[in-house]
Amino acid sequence: MAATTHLSRSALMFLSRREGLKDMATRLGPLRELAGRFIAGERLEEAVDAVKALNAQGLLASFDHLNEAVRTEAETREEVREYRRLLARIDAVGVKANVSLKLTQCGLLFDPALALENARAVAAEAAARGSFVRVDMEQSAVTQATLDTVRALHAEFGEERVGAVLQSSLRRTEADARALCAERVRIRLCKGAYLEGPEVAFQDKRDVDAHFVRVMRVLLDSGVYHGIATHDERMIDATLDYAAKQRLPRGAFEFQMLYGIRRDLQVRLAKAGFPVRIYVPYGRHWYPYLMRRLAERPANLWFVLKNLVRG
Ligand SMILES: Cc1cc2nc3c(=O)[nH]c(=O)nc-3n(C[C@H](O)[C@H](O)[C@H](O)COP(=O)(O)OP(=O)(O)OC[C@H]3O[C@@H](n4cnc5c(N)ncnc54)[C@H](O)[C@@H]3O)c2cc1C
Repeated sequence: MAATTHLSRSALMFLSRREGLKDMATRLGPLRELAGRFIAGERLEEAVDAVKALNAQGLLASFDHLNEAVRTEAETREEVREYRRLLARIDAVGVKANVSLKLTQCGLLFDPALALENARAVAAEAAARGSFVRVDMEQSAVTQATLDTVRALHAEFGEERVGAVLQSSLRRTEADARALCAERVRIRLCKGAYLEGPEVAFQDKRDVDAHFVRVMRVLLDSGVYHGIATHDERMIDATLDYAAKQRLPRGAFEFQMLYGIRRDLQVRLAKAGFPVRIYVPYGRHWYPYLMRRLAERPANLWFVLKNLVRG
């Protein structure tokens, strides 16, 4: 059973890197339907409407413009323009939301200096509008470059404008968390969505979860405002227990979840008085993001297959 799950996860992660398949995939009605559950729309205004609805339920948001397939400097500049438009729109509409940004979108894979320049332009726009940029974490090959970039932006714009993401699947994460907390960098802690080898990552889910709990405690002890990003009720309960034990007030940290996943839990925690932020992806390039969500839970694939068979 575990081997089958691992196989389908690897296959889905392989497919997630084949953007060329998107054209074919998007013609599959059930896949589009499933995308509608996890992605707020292809256009900014659809995402803004989704965030208004979340805000009305007492939930905060973080917009993410999907596009990991940028290959040229011109495309990275277009991403910066989109993020500036997005930050202006958040400001104009007054929705309770910040933004999440991937450095590969800014050119990290082919020109790290360009990526820093682009991310800096987004952070400057956020700073001018009193907003916040969360720099998403991607595959382990770019972990160090991503953290170096976040540190440079954090030094320039400060704790309330730029933050990092750490993945409990990576062995290095507890050490990174301690160092970043000492520098007062805000962290989003998640399990990690990328397939990684044993030299850098824990392979057993129990180790990933135990590491998550250890790092969560480091974050909650730090006095910095962090995000605990998970839908796993055991991780959430461990966080609630530790926060109660340390007598932390409810606004000392926030929970974060993905758009379309465990909506019941999102609302339940918000109603209990905890800040809950929903990650709201939008844009035309939704294919790799959707495939990662399928890989996390291959059961989602049955939905697609069942509906395909039914025609
Ligand atoms: C706000 C936010 C931001 C994130 N940012 C990043 C990032 O920058 N880099 C990165 O590598 N990863 C990121 N992730 C993804 C994260 O690393 C995990 O892959 C993802 O959250 C699933 O892990 P989990 O903690 O929910 O636990 P799991 O043990 O995977 O899942 C726990 C439960 O959550 C539900 N669930 C989880 N995933 C799904 C799904 N796809 N479909 C349906 N139900 C599901 C199920 O009920 C499952 O039993 C982010 C996650 C969140 C919530």
